[in-house]
Amino acid sequence: MTKSQYLLRSLLRIRSAKICPYCKSNRHTQVDSKYILTTLNECAECKLMFRHPIDTVSFNRKFYQEDYEQHDGITTDLPSELELKELLSSNFAGSGKDYSDKIEILKTLSDKAAPSVVDYGANWGYTSYQLMQAGFKVQSYELSKPRATFGKKIGVNILTDENQLNSGVDIFFNSHVIEHLPDIKNMFELAKKLLTDDGFFVAYCPNGSADLKLKNPELFHNFWGQVHPNCLSAEFFATVFKDVPYLIGSDGRSEISGWDKNSQQILDVSGNELFVIAKIKKQKF
Ligand SMILES: [Zn+2]
Repeated sequence: MTKSQYLLRSLLRIRSAKICPYCKSNRHTQVDSKYILTTLNECAECKLMFRHPIDTVSFNRKFYQEDYEQHDGITTDLPSELELKELLSSNFAGSGKDYSDKIEILKTLSDKAAPSVVDYGANWGYTSYQLMQAGFKVQSYELSKPRATFGKKIGVNILTDENQLNSGVDIFFNSHVIEHLPDIKNMFELAKKLLTDDGFFVAYCPNGSADLKLKNPELFHNFWGQVHPNCLSAEFFATVFKDVPYLIGSDGRSEISGWDKNSQQILDVSGNELFVIAKIKKQKF
């Protein structure tokens, strides 16, 4: 998908209603713009920052099935057989796909010997593989069939139908997924359905919080666009999870272990990557 195709699509949809894709409110403030045609808007109700024009759910599905390419060496590029062998033998240590930091945090969320985790948006299965090595019981889901098929190569069974995921889940994990989603609420509802009463929803994404924007406006500007229709912030998560315990923060991990898992806490949110850990079972969406 080239930039000109994206801009043409945006032009064709420029008159589409500017409505928050999360809560459907039409009250918003423009916070940024790109290429004249596209704007980033913050919903006055739920605080989601969303791109306008937005894509339809059906377009999004097709896009991720066939067209999605991102040349950052991580998201869509496949390693050679030799590279893959090396990645597996080192359990991805030190590579751009090393998830050990995040896995260490997930370990602190459950006392069980083998906590059950859903890896939602599993991509090629690298994170699921590392979760399995760390002793988690893993269910993996990925929209893109070619990527899910690749998972078999490394021993990861990746479902492409989220209805096949089983409930009784201790941790619903997603990393760099939510900024792509046309329907965030659908993922929250799914997580709520699958999680146990004490289970945790855990999301990582680029940090669009006000503190990051103030510190690094250029980076903020780069965080939204063609493949990122949503820009997530601490303000959004604190709003949508307002009735349940949560911990919101960015980057550094040291303070996470100090959370009692029953209060609402927002740590420093000026780092590049935002995370939220929330016990969402009792939240109404
Ligand atoms: Zn909204």
